[in-house]
Amino acid sequence: MSRSNLKVVILGAGHAGGTAAALLRQFGFDGDVTLVGEEPIAPYHRPPLSKAWLRTGLEGAWLPLKPVDFYAGHGIDFRPGVLAEKLTRLTKAVHLSTGEVLTYDFLIIATGARPIKLAVPGSDLAGVLALRTADDAERLRAVIKAGQRLAVIGGGYVGLEVAASARALGAEVVVIERERRLLARVAGKDLSAFFLDYHRERGVSFELGAAVSGFEGHDGRVTSVKLDGGGTIACTAALIGIGAAPNDEIARDAGLDTAGGVIVDLEARTTDPAIFAIGDVTRRPMPIYDRMFRMESVPNALEQAKQAASAIVGRAPPPSEVPWQWSDQYDLKLQIAGYPFDVDRVLLRGEPANARFSVFHLRGDQVQCVEALNSPQDFIFGKQLIASRESVDPGKLGDPGIALKEIAA
Ligand code: FAD
Repeated sequence: MSRSNLKVVILGAGHAGGTAAALLRQFGFDGDVTLVGEEPIAPYHRPPLSKAWLRTGLEGAWLPLKPVDFYAGHGIDFRPGVLAEKLTRLTKAVHLSTGEVLTYDFLIIATGARPIKLAVPGSDLAGVLALRTADDAERLRAVIKAGQRLAVIGGGYVGLEVAASARALGAEVVVIERERRLLARVAGKDLSAFFLDYHRERGVSFELGAAVSGFEGHDGRVTSVKLDGGGTIACTAALIGIGAAPNDEIARDAGLDTAGGVIVDLEARTTDPAIFAIGDVTRRPMPIYDRMFRMESVPNALEQAKQAASAIVGRAPPPSEVPWQWSDQYDLKLQIAGYPFDVDRVLLRGEPANARFSVFHLRGDQVQCVEALNSPQDFIFGKQLIASRESVDPGKLGDPGIALKEIAA
């Protein structure tokens, strides 16, 4: 079937949307592709915003996914600075903030996620910041300096990466976390304890088990964080890093199934066969764990972009991937494969004191997840084990003296 008269509209020009546009062309789609993005710049890599970019500034470069002339050069109608406001499925139309109405044969929703706000008094003071976009990162970088004190609210990966970057820039940092341990939602206890010590040794202070009740300021600018129970922590700026919520309203309002994210299948198709959704905005099946999940990672955005582009051009669906992500803090490279669902055993391989170890999460004798710190081989091996569902000998796995290739039971 010729697809040259088909129109694909992509909502959201982030990692997922930008990749889907490029893949459609790479897969030979010769119909119309329109990429609508609320942000004023072309799709870019977000991970460096809390890591290398925050530390170095990279002379204003935004690490674009593709060179600036890529979109025009590939016949992609890229519309920066434009918000998609409404979707009308009956007429297959998208209403834009410019007043224009775009019709589509296939729609890809790639609207990502936004930082969750902390609904407490004072959160609108100047200097109380969030981090999602390049603009957010510019604002954050401007307040991280020697002699300044940054309060990071939320001890998740983004918060800890910002803390490490801020220390590298000479700022004082205090991390405030509601749970009793860091990374409570996303990592095992060994890793939480390791990161707590590592950051403390590098001058970060922590308030664990502490809930923020508000911010105080002077002349409209934040000067301190107030804690439940009465404590006050002085700061010159605060970063709220307590997670992200999916931008799924446009889908929900149009009657697509959503449940904390747009529900999609393994082709990234929503409950409307003409509409796909990809990236952070989706709740997607994870076949290896037999459940639906919303992921926030670049590999997930890339995998789903490939699923949607393949379905649109009529290619076979790509094979399912093991979910993975990474975090860089100081000289540490953490790589995580899988998720620790239904785990009944946790094995440490290597030595935390040397900042080189892996945590294997097992269900029975199968690896569900590996958190590999400065241990790329354990990461690769663990990822393969998760994919193959091969049984392992837990006794051998926990012994770093035994080579990984000898571990299969
Ligand atoms: P996004 O990249 O958020 O793109 C969505 C785009 O859609 C945005 O530009 C948004 O403005 C736009 N949009 C929203 N609504 C509309 C609308 N109605 N109309 C038009 N446009 C709209 N992942 C990793 O794997 N490893 C990491 O180390 C890592 N570090 C991160 C660090 C930071 C600071 C952040 C913020 C994220 C990090 N992530 C990391 C997560 C990763 O960046 C995301 O998973 C990825 O960007 C998701 O891509 P996406 O296209 O779904 O969403």
